[in-house]
Amino acid sequence: MGEAERGESAPRQRVIFFCAHEHRFEVAFAAEAVVPESWDCPRCGLPASMDQENPPPPPKIEPYKTHLAYVKERRSDQEASDILDEALKSLRDRRKRGEIIF
Ligand SMILES: [Zn+2]
Repeated sequence: MGEAERGESAPRQRVIFFCAHEHRFEVAFAAEAVVPESWDCPRCGLPASMDQENPPPPPKIEPYKTHLAYVKERRSDQEASDILDEALKSLRDRRKRGEIIF
């Protein structure tokens, strides 16, 4: 009980990391924590290191995928074109009925 339990008085160490995109960010660790050699960049998701001259190379697999990439993973091209046809058809039907004017 007492001083040591109070979070705000715990000593911290601030570590600067650099990623391959030249982003620079600071992470605060507890003083007794072992600082990891790399940390994911909060801006681009690439691994970052404390060595500004030698940031870790981007991994082969992109950490972030576009929404379209995820959709393509879930659906085959045929399914995708079916869905598109269906959407176009319903749009044309609605236009015919005067629901959409453009
Ligand atoms: Zn970055």
